[in-house]
Amino acid sequence: MAASGTVAARHRVIVVGGGFGGLLAVRALRRAPVDITLIDRRNFHLFEPLVYQVATGALASGEIASPLRGIFKRDRNVHVLLGEVTGFDLAGRRVTVGSMPDDEGARDFEYDSLVVAGGSSYSYFGHDEWRPFAPDVKTLEGALYVRRRILAAFEAAEYEPDAERRAAWLTFVVVGGGPTGVEMAGQIGEIARDTLRRDFRSIDTRSTRILLVELGDRILQDFPPRLSERAARSLEQLGVTPLTGHRVVGIDGHSVSVTAGTGESEVVPARTVIWAAGVVASELARFLAAESGAELDRAGRISVGPDLTLPGHPEVMALGDMVRVHDANGNVVPLPGLAPVAMQQGRFAARAIRDRLRGRVPGPFRYRDKGNLATIGRRRAVADIKGLHLSGLLAWLTWLFVHLFYLNGLQNRLFVFMRWTFSFVTHGRGARLITGTPGRPEHGSAGQTPRVD
Ligand SMILES: Cc1cc2nc3c(=O)[nH]c(=O)nc-3n(C[C@H](O)[C@H](O)[C@H](O)COP(=O)(O)OP(=O)(O)OC[C@H]3O[C@@H](n4cnc5c(N)ncnc54)[C@H](O)[C@@H]3O)c2cc1C
Repeated sequence: MAASGTVAARHRVIVVGGGFGGLLAVRALRRAPVDITLIDRRNFHLFEPLVYQVATGALASGEIASPLRGIFKRDRNVHVLLGEVTGFDLAGRRVTVGSMPDDEGARDFEYDSLVVAGGSSYSYFGHDEWRPFAPDVKTLEGALYVRRRILAAFEAAEYEPDAERRAAWLTFVVVGGGPTGVEMAGQIGEIARDTLRRDFRSIDTRSTRILLVELGDRILQDFPPRLSERAARSLEQLGVTPLTGHRVVGIDGHSVSVTAGTGESEVVPARTVIWAAGVVASELARFLAAESGAELDRAGRISVGPDLTLPGHPEVMALGDMVRVHDANGNVVPLPGLAPVAMQQGRFAARAIRDRLRGRVPGPFRYRDKGNLATIGRRRAVADIKGLHLSGLLAWLTWLFVHLFYLNGLQNRLFVFMRWTFSFVTHGRGARLITGTPGRPEHGSAGQTPRVD
């Protein structure tokens, strides 16, 4: 590790963020003649595409997260540092880590090359007051909190004598009709119709109402319209009502207010709301912009050049969800906020560093689009693979295979495969535990950290 003032024998690379982009950058550099310091505020890599399965009790948290130290234990030139990056000094080539486990204050680390891949978080469109009532499933803590809220809602409904109040406990609203919203809504439908069907005595969980609110005129807008329609039909079969063309205008813990494009408003009594709409870039983009003068867009993403570098800083690359790439003419290259983009950019950044060390000038980053997948539930998914449109069982099997393939670590792959196979046969969900305090659902809301199992 190259702390401030240390004389470094080899080229020092700092990678900030051990998500998809950062992880791939470090992996692709580990055989290179460089010393790498990987800094993340978490000690694990999280497979975000499956976080919603933790939120719905299908998988346990350890099955989709891998400790970063474990991943790089055999790579002597990779140093993992647990800490939160709070600033950059691009002129002095230093990264400031403000929060570390020893609480000893901020420390600076020097680099020769810097790769920043801080990702993104959900944006509440200027309504941060909704956050405690509508948690998201971006983090493991968020997913465990959502799992508690979903399962506790059925428990509350079971002994609620008043019909209206019971209905509010059995109404779930998912905000955002992208892949995560669709997957969440579909999973809640399966829990209600399938998993919990025989578990309760007073309530019929099949009467659960699930609303999927989407502002646009169809769900899964990044997919061809035909696949959006099929996904909507599959959701309806699971008891989900897609409310397209609707805007959420209020959330207060007891109800959600929505307005349709026609101006009609409705207040839906609902005790459980899950947020899956709109993303905003990591604050690291703002820190880099302040240092380099690079622009930020409305989603807080920093503008980078065709080779992912910051203006005037060929030694600094930013990538993944937190960036907007420009081509050589200054035009924005439209790229989706997906794991494959971050992974390919991570590999590209590693190659660019190796090229520069050999005196070569790296070319521009080019994204190879391998397709788009979204699952809705058991045997239900949609896939758009280079113009080949799949739905139903084939798309679902493709989805399963792709996610198992990209999941980190053989052990996790095996566990997830076995768990999915077992759930498929038994219709059960192994991780259906309520942790924390079920009687106080307001606790553990955004800003607080619920217990992690
Ligand atoms: C619920 C959900 C479902 C998704 N499903 C899919 C899917 O099915 N398919 C798909 O392709 N994509 C999916 N995505 C998108 C995909 O996960 C992202 O595009 C991808 O993770 C972006 O990679 P990244 O490296 O930019 O950021 P991330 O993978 O988010 O990694 C960012 C890392 O930076 C660290 N970090 C952030 N700030 C700091 C700091 N200040 N100091 C230190 N460390 C910091 C974080 O702890 C994190 O480890 C999904 C995303 C979510 C949230």
